[in-house]
This record gives sequence, C-alpha cells and structure tokens, in this order.
Amino acid sequence: MAQIGPSPLTDAGTLITWDRAYVALVTASLGLHAFLFRRLYRSDPGWVKPGGGPGVEEGMPRHKCPHCGAYPPERSRHDFNTGQCVAKFDHFCPLIATSVGDLNHSLFWFYCAFQAFLIAWAWTVALDAVIPCLYGSRPETAACWLLVAAALGLVPLFNFFAGLALLHGYLAASGRTSFEICKGAKVEYLKPYYDSYKGPAQFGLTAKGLGSLLRELRKGNAPPAPYSLGAAENLNMFFFGKKPHLYKRTHCVQAAV
Ligand SMILES: [Zn+2]
Repeated sequence: MAQIGPSPLTDAGTLITWDRAYVALVTASLGLHAFLFRRLYRSDPGWVKPGGGPGVEEGMPRHKCPHCGAYPPERSRHDFNTGQCVAKFDHFCPLIATSVGDLNHSLFWFYCAFQAFLIAWAWTVALDAVIPCLYGSRPETAACWLLVAAALGLVPLFNFFAGLALLHGYLAASGRTSFEICKGAKVEYLKPYYDSYKGPAQFGLTAKGLGSLLRELRKGNAPPAPYSLGAAENLNMFFFGKKPHLYKRTHCVQAAV
C-alpha cells in the first residue's frame, strides 16, 4: 500500500522555513546583545591595582596616584566613580556602570556599533508595520499609534549609538581618547603639545565641543595626538594589540591623523 502524506524529505523542508530562520536570527541577535552587555558590564577596563606597579618601567617615570596609591602608566587617570586608576582612561559610562579604558575600549565600540545596527533593524521592522497600519482600514487604533511612537522614538536612539560608534571609531583611528579630547591642555602630558597648537585648548564632549572639533578637522587643524602611530597602526593596536599597552609619545607635536 502506498504511503500517504509528506515524505521525510518534505518534512525536513518544511522544518526550516524563512519565518523560522528569521525568528532564529532575531533571537540570536538579541542573545548576542545580552552577552555583549554582560561582558562589558563585568569587564576590566585596565584597573591599576593600589600599591601595585613599579615606579619606573622601561625608562618611563611613573607618579604615585595620590588617591589610590597605585603607580599607573602614562595616559591613565584616577576614576572617582570607581575609586581606581584606569590604564588609558577614556570615560566612565553610566549605561554600563563601569569605566572604559585600554582593555575594554574596543568591546565598547563593538557594543555601540551593534546596538546601532539592531536599532536600525528594529526601525525598518516598525516602519514596515506602520505604513499598512496607517493606510489600512483601521488607522486610528492604539496599536497603530504605538507603532508610530516606536518608529519615531528609535530615530534619536539610533543617532545616539551610531554617533558613539562614529566618535569612538575616530578616536581609535586617531590614537586619542574621549578624556584627552575633552580636557585638552588640562591634561598634564598633553600640555606641551597644546602650547603650540593653534586651536581651542579643549573641546568637550558636548554638541558644541564636537561641532568645534569638526570645524578644526575640516580646516586640517586636528588637536594634538602625541601617541598616534598612523591610522592603520592605531586601529591595529586598538582592536588586536596586547593590553594594557605601554603607550609612548611620538616626536610629532601636531596630530598625525
Ligand atoms: Zn588612582
């Protein structure tokens, strides 16, 4: 008697459908997002242990931190939010409740870029649902307005994370940190470079400060970046270099990038 119903091959074919693959992709993406957040939240930004570290290493003098007693390498800063010195301190991020420094800066960049990608993806999904809803038979339902609110609300969120990814991508490529751009001539090791720099003494990470930075970059008057080794080498160090790295100043006074 002949078998009635789908063959095993057909069963396998119907098991993997586009819809199921899409759901699996969304689930995997959200899982990766949660994993990145947890990893970042628990990450070591490059803590310099109190009382640890030699006073002099590789001929570079180190100064004792008056707040925690550590001997941090150059480009470090004592972070008052966490009470410890951080190697190549960038900033304290309230979103992940930890400092961003030499060891987790590349992970922070990847998190921002992935977050921007997920938001852009969610925006296209929301827009796909908004248009038929608004132009359908019942456009004034609460669900429709919720979708409109989601589509509108995702735009500033995308701008925020995409802006962070762009800014930190620029910092990585140019061998700078947020702290160095923000404080400029107030940073002790940058002061000699800013003395001969014909531009603002500091920029700040506000809209006004970033606008000012963009204007200077357009004029070819980039702020000092004494640790820059060129964009390719800076990016190589940022993503693949062994950390914490002992950064050394180059002889150039003006930025290389
Ligand atoms: Zn300290």
